[in-house]
Amino acid sequence: MSKLFVVATPIGNLSDITFRAIETLKSVDLIICEDTRVTKVLLDHYEISKPMFVINAQNESKKIPELIDKIASGLNCSLVSDAGTPSISDPGIRLVNAAVKNGIEVIGIPGPSAVTLALSISGLPTDAFVFEGFLPQKKGRQKNLIELAGEERTIVLYESTYRIEKLLNELNEYFPDRQIAVCRELTKKFEEVWRGTASEILSGLNKKITKGEFVVIIAPKDFRM
Ligand code: SAM
Repeated sequence: MSKLFVVATPIGNLSDITFRAIETLKSVDLIICEDTRVTKVLLDHYEISKPMFVINAQNESKKIPELIDKIASGLNCSLVSDAGTPSISDPGIRLVNAAVKNGIEVIGIPGPSAVTLALSISGLPTDAFVFEGFLPQKKGRQKNLIELAGEERTIVLYESTYRIEKLLNELNEYFPDRQIAVCRELTKKFEEVWRGTASEILSGLNKKITKGEFVVIIAPKDFRM
């Protein structure tokens, strides 16, 4: 019976990939990816040449029956995303769900994910945390922030290039005294971590480059560094 491998790939530094991930990508018949241009960079780097099949947020549900047929008819497939672990704020979970329902074995090949990496270097409590991913951009955002303000565990958020300042202003309003770690461009050339309360981080922001990818970690209420 063929299998679906869920393979974690680097989040910025191409060397951050496991031997097993490379062996798996080399061994399968088909690589299911988000964007062939992004995955091709990784495959070329490791001299892997395989057919690719695109699923993304728009077409994942529509493509599932075709992919399940392919796996059921004997093709071993690897699922990757543009960066990090598939299904974590990335496409894939609906395919995995369909594979499970169809009795297909799903094997995870572990590796990088921005959430675990950021937590591990934050210096903030990691014994219990809530991962919120991206906050909704408009509808429901304020409600989400109000609810999170009552959360007692460490909170992890994802944010992309152009909205970090807006998010920090909101954190200053809803989480004024909390310790925060903003992890920017992890594993990449301009990797850095900003630490402090939201207002401390905001006051230093004009000297900083705010472009990049971010993980924001918010400590529980009573935590002090
Ligand atoms: N599947 C990925 C994972 O396992 O982390 C997450 C994909 S999600 C579409 C992309 C978001 O993850 C970015 O907007 C950012 O919030 C976070 N992220 C990904 N790579 C990052 C990096 N190198 N440094 C900081 N944050 C990163």
